[in-house]
Amino acid sequence: MGRALYLHHPSSLEHDTGDHPERPERITAIERELEVRDWLGYERVQAPRADRAAVEAVHPAGYVDGVERISESGGGMLDMDTVASAGSFDAALHSAGGAVRAVEALMSRDAEVAFCALRPPGHHAEPARGMGFCLFNNVAIGARRALAALGARRVLVLDWDVHHGNGTNDIFYDSDEVLYVSLHQSPLYPGTGAITENGTGRGEGYTVNLPVPPGSGHDEWLGLLQHVVVPIGREYDPDLVLVSAGFDAHRDDPLANCLLTEEDYAALTAGVRGLAAEVSAPLGFLLEGGYDLRALASSVAATMAAAHDGAAPAEVDPGPLVAHARAHYARWWPSLAA
Ligand code: ZN
Repeated sequence: MGRALYLHHPSSLEHDTGDHPERPERITAIERELEVRDWLGYERVQAPRADRAAVEAVHPAGYVDGVERISESGGGMLDMDTVASAGSFDAALHSAGGAVRAVEALMSRDAEVAFCALRPPGHHAEPARGMGFCLFNNVAIGARRALAALGARRVLVLDWDVHHGNGTNDIFYDSDEVLYVSLHQSPLYPGTGAITENGTGRGEGYTVNLPVPPGSGHDEWLGLLQHVVVPIGREYDPDLVLVSAGFDAHRDDPLANCLLTEEDYAALTAGVRGLAAEVSAPLGFLLEGGYDLRALASSVAATMAAAHDGAAPAEVDPGPLVAHARAHYARWWPSLAA
């Protein structure tokens, strides 16, 4: 196994959200767990600040300036549940910068795997609007950099956060250079991500939304990964695989109603790792949600361990969700018709 990087930065602890589920203790809990496990063979790297051009490849300058002004003025609300404090602009730049640094290391094959444990998270952030605890869309910023400057022609973004990543979905909705695949609970915040939201123009078929009902667990999530995501990913043949890795589909998570365990995150990871290996693409993970501290820390550790040396998971029987998804997506992805 090649080099594995763990990207982090102290500024993640200075994004002060007050009494809020998306809090600095998430990072502290993760790092306490990783310390015990000797960082699982990952090399720790400080995430640099993203340069302005990288951020502005996704977000208009006026929005970036606005977030900076809110932080400079001591903080404020971006929306009902999205807080910026004095330290948030700097934290958000490092969170985006970690994505860029990870993608640079992956595309140059300096590393085979990278995990970014930074906050604020990103997948709900739209170009001109922070929302859902997210300021800048880190995974989109990383993907854009890979496409614009690092030789990637196709990037697969797999979003397994329990919430639909509306921001990433919209940013690449008309593009075939990013295949956005989301597994998420529905109904749930933010309410987007129906199976019929599939992209537009050149991007038609390159947005793959896979909603699952509340109460879904191992069989539904692994089934969709193995029988829908992996075959589509194989057909797409990406140069880079990025995972918007939220851990709020865990059974102990307070914000959603799915039933995954840390072992299931290891199995999902092993499945993605198998796909990445098959298409010879490096693999990066970016922390999104996950709000039960113990579940979050153990799930991150399970993911990092499996990303490094996970064996292929046992095959799950395709259930009715898989059959429905394969029938829907076969018009764009012929391998699903088989
Ligand atoms: Zn989430």
